[in-house]
Amino acid sequence: MNGVVVVHAGAGTWRFFNRDEVTKVIKSSLRAGIEALKRGGTALDAVVNATIVLEDSGILNAGLGSVVDALGRLTMDAGVMDGYTGRAGAVAAVTYPKNPVVLARKVMELTDHIILSGSGADELAFRLNLPKHPGPTERVLKLYKEYVSKADPTSVRFAKNVKIAKELGMLDTVGAVALDNDGRLAAAVSTGGIILKFPGRVGDSAIPGAGFYADRYGAAVATGVGETIMMSLLTYRAVQLIKEGYTAITAAKMALQFHTSLFGKDTAGLIIVDRSGTPYGAYNTQAMPWGYIRVDMEEPYISGFPETT
Ligand code: ASP
Repeated sequence: MNGVVVVHAGAGTWRFFNRDEVTKVIKSSLRAGIEALKRGGTALDAVVNATIVLEDSGILNAGLGSVVDALGRLTMDAGVMDGYTGRAGAVAAVTYPKNPVVLARKVMELTDHIILSGSGADELAFRLNLPKHPGPTERVLKLYKEYVSKADPTSVRFAKNVKIAKELGMLDTVGAVALDNDGRLAAAVSTGGIILKFPGRVGDSAIPGAGFYADRYGAAVATGVGETIMMSLLTYRAVQLIKEGYTAITAAKMALQFHTSLFGKDTAGLIIVDRSGTPYGAYNTQAMPWGYIRVDMEEPYISGFPETT
């Protein structure tokens, strides 16, 4: 068996980012994931370790770099799923942990629940002594101040705010999927959500089957406008197609095509891996930086940047 780790840095326009900087983060994330597999860790260890690196980068919309809501407050969603045990854990609208993906794993492993939200989830992070989030970055606060007057802070439909988020290219949620050397699959996702979202809004990244899904056939993680991904159940749909006999590549393309037929372009992307270890990334946005590395590869494969950055 040949372990493989796949990660992405979010679907969007990717107009305002430094390509080298993002490539470097993706590479370190892939290395963190593959090192876990080389040490004999599970697919779950690999996806969580890879996602922590993305959360800690500070330049992506997750963990340290998370965007803020319409009141300028930080609330994050994250989820993990272990395809071998069929168990999942997620956190929604959390503010406390530096690494929401770690808290999502704790929810899966230490509680009988699947999703913990808001103050309860923060309480668990506090009780577990998890590192505390230092608050929004200067870059995020600057964007917030610049755009908050243009946003519609009262509408829960927040179409205008999604438009702003898209213009800013701020759909850079992160995620990872992996197949380990024993054939187990896992998925992890983490996000600050959509900039200027209505306070209390929860996106797809906290919902198994929407933002993340894994079973014994495949694992997938989504990014894009959560309100659309929750309705197409994008990752569940893609993994189901693998179960029906399609390869990861065809399954991702078919699931995304269905999603696009419902919600149009510029709405979503996903990364996927099947039990044969085939990795793939598909998106209907201008870009979705993603990459993969296998246990026997020296250098990772990186793709999905826009033509010019
Ligand atoms: N899917 C995330 C959300 O809607 C956003 C993203 O992918 O950037 O919360």
